[in-house]
Amino acid sequence: MDAEKHLNFLEDIVEEDIKIGKHHGRVHTRFPPEPNGYLHIGHAKSICLNFGLAAKHGGKTNLRFDDTNPETEETEYVQSIREDVQWLGFQWDNQFFASDYFEELYEFAIKLIDKNLAYVDDLSAEDIASTKGTTNEPGEESPYRNRSIDENLDLFKRMRSGEFGDGEKVLRARIDMGSPNMHMRDPIMYRIKHVNHHRTQDKWCIYPMYDFAHGQCDSLEKITHSLCTLEFEVHRPLYDWFIEKLEIFPSQQYEFARLNITYTVLSKRKLLQLVNEKYVSGWSDPRMPTLSGLRRRGYTAESIRMLCNKIGVQRRENIIDVELLEFCIREDLNKRADRRMVVLDPVRLVITNYPEGSTEEVFSENNPELEKPGMRRIPFSGELWIEREDFMEVPSKKFFRLAPGQMVRLKSAYIIRCESFTKEADGSIKEIQCTYIPESRSGEDTSGLNIKGTIHWVSIEHGATATVRLYDRLFKVPVPDADEGDFKEHINFNSLHEIQNACIEPELLNASEGEWFQFIRKGYFCVDRDSTAVNLVFNRTVTLKDNWSKQNMQNK
Ligand code: ATP
Ligand code: MG
Repeated sequence: MDAEKHLNFLEDIVEEDIKIGKHHGRVHTRFPPEPNGYLHIGHAKSICLNFGLAAKHGGKTNLRFDDTNPETEETEYVQSIREDVQWLGFQWDNQFFASDYFEELYEFAIKLIDKNLAYVDDLSAEDIASTKGTTNEPGEESPYRNRSIDENLDLFKRMRSGEFGDGEKVLRARIDMGSPNMHMRDPIMYRIKHVNHHRTQDKWCIYPMYDFAHGQCDSLEKITHSLCTLEFEVHRPLYDWFIEKLEIFPSQQYEFARLNITYTVLSKRKLLQLVNEKYVSGWSDPRMPTLSGLRRRGYTAESIRMLCNKIGVQRRENIIDVELLEFCIREDLNKRADRRMVVLDPVRLVITNYPEGSTEEVFSENNPELEKPGMRRIPFSGELWIEREDFMEVPSKKFFRLAPGQMVRLKSAYIIRCESFTKEADGSIKEIQCTYIPESRSGEDTSGLNIKGTIHWVSIEHGATATVRLYDRLFKVPVPDADEGDFKEHINFNSLHEIQNACIEPELLNASEGEWFQFIRKGYFCVDRDSTAVNLVFNRTVTLKDNWSKQNMQNK
């Protein structure tokens, strides 16, 4: 985490507040997810911001589950959110649920009724919507707006006790039906829902609206800086109004731009559709932009924090190229991942002058990027798997790999020359016959040959097989939800390509779930949880190719 990096506009605000001694220099933020889905990489931006800002100024951060919509919320989501925040590297000081405060919120509502600032309305939701007016015209006052305080108190208590059915009545704030801000036109504070809540069960049948819960919870927790995304900017006057009229701790709301990333959607509602309609295998499908999906794909917490650091915090909406995310994980895995040889599309290669039946060990660095790269032994023999695409019967001009008469180095082993090849009936290559140069062994090469190409290989006798899953983008267009149409029309149905019989070097048989590797020349991979004792499954996290940094780094 780059704590020293200067300063986004929110840090400026916080530092100014500290300077003038506001809240005695105290900084207290909160991350307030609604437990109606898994966290996605957009939430990571909010998490890094809330926790990072507090940590940098010796402050605190609460995790608060904003659980005021009983129909959509589940305990499974609560658990996953806790795990994901911790995985990302953050620990909250306190954990709360908005539902912890249902009693306090109810008392706050009573207080506003007492001040004649709230009233029970019998209008239906549709009627309330249709009398709200437009941006150019004021709304109409409800015929129930001028009920007496006593009547309102009585009705609200009876709402709580379950006397009325869903939608029969609501509690509204009495503000201004002519306000230019639609959110100030007597917004709904409470609605009746006879549904079970994941924590309070059936204790309540009235539930507060977001606007009447969020700021009040902030205030109860004495949150100093309540950071949220830009769509809440228009709610801020209402946030302030409730706090002012209730005369409670003056938490303040600040807005920043959501994170958007190309080739994906970042909305729990849409991600839920992908899950429910089985476009993906679940919230943790490695193609999902959820933190659990990214984690399973092989993304590290460090790489996601690196992204959040790089993008910073803005006041205006923008869209981040997914290649920047890919750049971050390459940076991280380049240092973390041991190199291994895996042949994804194998073709047989025989070294005709290698002593028949004999084997030897060659040595290869685990990670040449490290000061202490570490070495491993790799068994070598006269019969190898190589990548089908590393041979061309009629080579193109710049093809420096195998072709009749051409030489190539086998990674960490010998130089070989292609002498001949045989074909299957269908014309595909069946086997390549080569000779090797015994004095060209890596590390002790006295052949004097200068060879341009190096290819990876696996000894047929010693290698094993594994499943390898190659992923592509889940959407075919950069902004799948740009237009009004159905974002699912842009799904890429070829986003998963599974290889059943990839050939892996034997060292990989020791790999365990979650470990990362660079498969030489093929990309970064991690061990998937679908692996069994007899068959490993690898996910490709990202390819090696790094277009983004080439094109963009010089401009940054
Ligand atoms: P979604 O639209 O995905 O359901 P949300 O805003 O409803 O998102 P919440 O669970 O309410 O999700 O969000 C918790 C916090 O994370 C909020 O403060 C919200 O503003 C922030 N957040 C959500 N999505 C993003 C995003 N794409 N970028 C930055 N912050 C986000
Ligand atoms: Mg929300």
